[in-house]
Amino acid sequence: MRILLAEDELALCDQIKQALTAEGHAVDVAGDGLDAAHFGETEPYDIIILDIGLPTRDGLSILKDWRRQGLDVPVLILTARDGWSEKVDGLDAGADDYMTKPFHMAELLARIRVLLRRRSGRVNPVFTRGDVTIDLRTGRTVRAGMIVELTQQEAAVLSYLAHNTGRMVSRSELSEHIYEYDGDRDSNTIAVFIARLRKKLGPDLIATTRGRGYMIAEDP
Ligand code: CA
Repeated sequence: MRILLAEDELALCDQIKQALTAEGHAVDVAGDGLDAAHFGETEPYDIIILDIGLPTRDGLSILKDWRRQGLDVPVLILTARDGWSEKVDGLDAGADDYMTKPFHMAELLARIRVLLRRRSGRVNPVFTRGDVTIDLRTGRTVRAGMIVELTQQEAAVLSYLAHNTGRMVSRSELSEHIYEYDGDRDSNTIAVFIARLRKKLGPDLIATTRGRGYMIAEDP
């Protein structure tokens, strides 16, 4: 999944980015409010993590603008320890969740997984099709009782399709959601990842429509 992380505290920002990257997400970082607003308006994120106290433009006014423009991406705000009024204002401005600093990284990651599942309408984090089971919390993928080893990119492609079941996803959409902004985006490599996934998980899980894209069917 593609995530925008808007946070100006460098050490915290690095920690969060590292944790999200380890979970297989592509993370763009904005260190000030103007960049954050611009990235949020122009790139297709699956989640935005937004610090309320940002230089050049505060997070709250950015969030209000996004919502006014109809941007419906889930936003998790980061607030200061004693900022209870920030939380209220943030939720009223259209935030989906919040974390108070300092926080445990595991909790932030869990909240992000919940927001991603909620967005995809998926209540159950464990996903089964035929003999393939994918745990969206851990990425653990099992076929016919055996754990399937996936590369980070294969796992990212599979996770995006699993979060968007029943919908045809084009190669360019996939590459926009698995690579970072300055990432080496080549939508031809998507076909390679899909071919490898079909080899590892069987030919039936991911349907391919030539020229249009890929789809995992809705829950039966
Ligand atoms: Ca800050």
